[in-house]
Amino acid sequence: MYKLIKKAGNARLGEFETVHGTVKTPGFMNVATVAAIKGGLDAEDLRTINTQVMLCNTYHLHVRTGDETIKELGGLHAFTGWNGPILTDSGGFQVFSLAKLRRIKEEGVTFNSHIDGRHIFMGPEESMRIQSNLGSTIAMAFDECVENPAEYVYAKQSCERTTRWLIRCKEEHERLNALSGTVNPHQLLFGINQGCTYDDLRVKHMEEIAKLELDGYAIGGLAVGEPTEEMYRVISVVEPYMPADKIRYLMGVGTPGNILEAVKRGVDLFDCVMPSRNARHGHLFTFGGVININNAKYEKDLRPIEEGCDCPVCRQHSRAYIRHLVKAKEVLALRLCVMHNLYFYNTLMARIRDAIANGTFDAFYNDYIGVLDERASD
Ligand SMILES: [Zn+2]
Repeated sequence: MYKLIKKAGNARLGEFETVHGTVKTPGFMNVATVAAIKGGLDAEDLRTINTQVMLCNTYHLHVRTGDETIKELGGLHAFTGWNGPILTDSGGFQVFSLAKLRRIKEEGVTFNSHIDGRHIFMGPEESMRIQSNLGSTIAMAFDECVENPAEYVYAKQSCERTTRWLIRCKEEHERLNALSGTVNPHQLLFGINQGCTYDDLRVKHMEEIAKLELDGYAIGGLAVGEPTEEMYRVISVVEPYMPADKIRYLMGVGTPGNILEAVKRGVDLFDCVMPSRNARHGHLFTFGGVININNAKYEKDLRPIEEGCDCPVCRQHSRAYIRHLVKAKEVLALRLCVMHNLYFYNTLMARIRDAIANGTFDAFYNDYIGVLDERASD
């Protein structure tokens, strides 16, 4: 259940209540693809860095170790030791981006596993069953994610099919929640808005899916090849048609600057692999901009990654030590870099929430929008 607390322009401060705890929004979900954060962080680490929601990938867990097995083991919460909210994606994005030789039909998609090549069929019902077996807090509807740019005619047909799939998802989801032996009978379902970068398709699709009274609504199919300005335009176009009393999630976005822009346009929830992916290259986020720890100037720098950062890494270690670990390709380098970056994202969201609460969101936006995605000056 979403509760809107306060607005600053279109930016929304809110709370989203789930059976696994309350999510303060705007919020950022930490991506644990195969039920683990890349970089070696476990559930205890996630609690330490103020994570609110863990996100796991349905497709990856289905092909290995298998959702039936995870159900037998008590679901994702028991399996990972994370007792907070978990969102599972539908598998759609991976099916359309990772899998080879896919065939789309009205019933669903046939594709080959990227692990062992075996044939797999996934449609709305299969995706709902897998997510029910995983026992996540929030399940995502199964949709087709179309790459941008896409032909208008194809985008329109795909959108209409995604609506029909959503109706099937909802029916199957309700059926599964009512079964005895379901891991999480209180599982929530979010619908996903599609329509590529065509405003009329986006609006019509949002109007259609809003009628289905789902627990939340996501904007999907963005940050998949279109210019950033197009993404912001689509968010602004769709936002007025998103139910105001439901949580709104922008999938797969983005840089700290992207997030700030989307919050300003009325989005509540985010996820992105960027904090961990960039950490792999030694790119570290700070409120003064992005640091590349590989840089020679940090060789003898005894300051933490960010002065004043209260994360376990900055409290203990110097830039010089982290640079050394990165250069030596030590496993610890990735762990420390990911930990700081995720802490930064979680802290960024907390500071955005504080700014909306205090009536200083515009000032916060103006102070940081030109800084966060740029290279730090020192
Ligand atoms: Zn830090």
